[in-house]
Amino acid sequence: MHGDIDRVLIPHVRIAARVHELAGEITRDHTPPRLDGEAEVTIVPVLTGALVFCADLMRQIPIAMKIGLMTVSSYPGASLRTQGSQVIGQQLKNIVGRHVLLVDDILDSGGTIRLVVPLLREMGAATVKTCVLLRKDRAAARETPVDYVGFEIPDEFVVGYGLDYNDYYRNLPDIVTLKQEAIEAGKE
Ligand code: 5GP
Ligand code: MG
Repeated sequence: MHGDIDRVLIPHVRIAARVHELAGEITRDHTPPRLDGEAEVTIVPVLTGALVFCADLMRQIPIAMKIGLMTVSSYPGASLRTQGSQVIGQQLKNIVGRHVLLVDDILDSGGTIRLVVPLLREMGAATVKTCVLLRKDRAAARETPVDYVGFEIPDEFVVGYGLDYNDYYRNLPDIVTLKQEAIEAGKE
């Protein structure tokens, strides 16, 4: 697995430091009087990619919250470009009147955010905020509004810290690019 890495873009120590900062910002923004004190928070990781990020993030947000799950597919199998986002499963429970924090791994075409945010509003969320660990340097990503961004990265295909190629590499602790031969070998 480690032999397939081309470059380490963001080492895990930098990720940890930034996750800590983001958690601090989110905690401040979700604490009264900034947020109406009656309503509670539901954190919603977009599976599978945001699983690792959300697990680290939520444990540093010391406010009452529930978890809702949403599975969205956009890079199925050995895709290197989005194939269009599709909700393929959800376990949200009741989000009526709750403050929802949607957490995704990476903002690329913006398709996922533009698909899921209106859905959460339709389902009755009081507010929907969005948090992405990475934002790619491309117009479509910049034009999609999000509330919290961990890192700006070049428009390259990355894996690790939850992000996959053909469902592998999610357990790498760093955000990395892959060698061309690893990409070729992963194609079906
Ligand atoms: P968007 O819907 O903004 O185009 O992309 C969001 C989803 O596409 C992400 O949640 C992620 O699953 C996938 N994605 C986008 N860019 C990358 C990338 O560079 N690497 C990986 N592994 N997945 C990506
Ligand atoms: Mg994803």
